[in-house]
Amino acid sequence: MSQQAVTQNANYGRLGLWAVKAAYWLQDLVFPPICGHCGRVDTRFCRVCRDELARHPLQISHHKLERLDDVCTTGAQQDVLASAVRAFKYEGATDLRDLLAERLIMAVSRQSWRLDLVAPAPLHADRLLERGYNQAALLGERLAHTLGIRYEPGLLGRVRNTRQQARLSSRERRRNVVGAFAADPAARGLSVLLVDDVVTTGATLSECAAALRARNAEAVYAIAISRA
Ligand SMILES: [Zn+2]
Repeated sequence: MSQQAVTQNANYGRLGLWAVKAAYWLQDLVFPPICGHCGRVDTRFCRVCRDELARHPLQISHHKLERLDDVCTTGAQQDVLASAVRAFKYEGATDLRDLLAERLIMAVSRQSWRLDLVAPAPLHADRLLERGYNQAALLGERLAHTLGIRYEPGLLGRVRNTRQQARLSSRERRRNVVGAFAADPAARGLSVLLVDDVVTTGATLSECAAALRARNAEAVYAIAISRA
C-alpha cells in the first residue's frame, strides 16, 4: 500500500464478520428484527421478500463517469432492490450477499471487459467501525471468487477521512471526496473493476478511478447494484 494512505481498505472491522453477526444476534434478543422490505417481524429480510429479490429483473444500464472506461448498474434504487441494499448496508443483513452478488456476476459476465483484478470502493474508517463490515468489499470478494479474478481489497486506501456522502448534496459530495483516495503502485498497467453498492453522483468512483489512473492503471471499470 502506498505510504500516503492512512486507512487501509478492509472487508471487516478488526473483529471480523462473526463479531458483527454476534452483535446483531444479541440485539435481536432484545428487539426482534423486522424485515427491511415488508416490515414483518421476522428476520432482517424475510423469506418472502428474499424470493421477490431473487425474481427482481436484471436491468443493466451503463453510465458515463469521469475517468472510468465503463460503469454498469443492475437496476434502479427502488422497490425490493432499494430495501435489500439498505438492509445489507445499514441493518446487518449480510446474508443478502449472495443474492446481491449474483446480480453483479450476471451483469459483469455480459460485458466484454478484460479484467485483471477486483477492488472494492474503500469505506470510511468510522463507518467500518460502526458497521463492522464494508458492504462493497463483501460483494467484491464474492464476485471475484466466482469469476476467478484476483481480489485486491488493499489496492485503494483513503488518504484522508471524509464526511458521510449520504448526507451531502451532489456538489458537496464531489468536493468531499476530491483527493481522498490513493492507489497502490501495483495498479500500474492493470485493468481494474471497482465494486460499490449504489451509484449516486459517482463522485466516489470517479475519485477512486483518478487514484488508479495516477498509478497508470490501464483501464478502470465499475459495477454497482443500483443507481440512485
Ligand atoms: Zn419481508
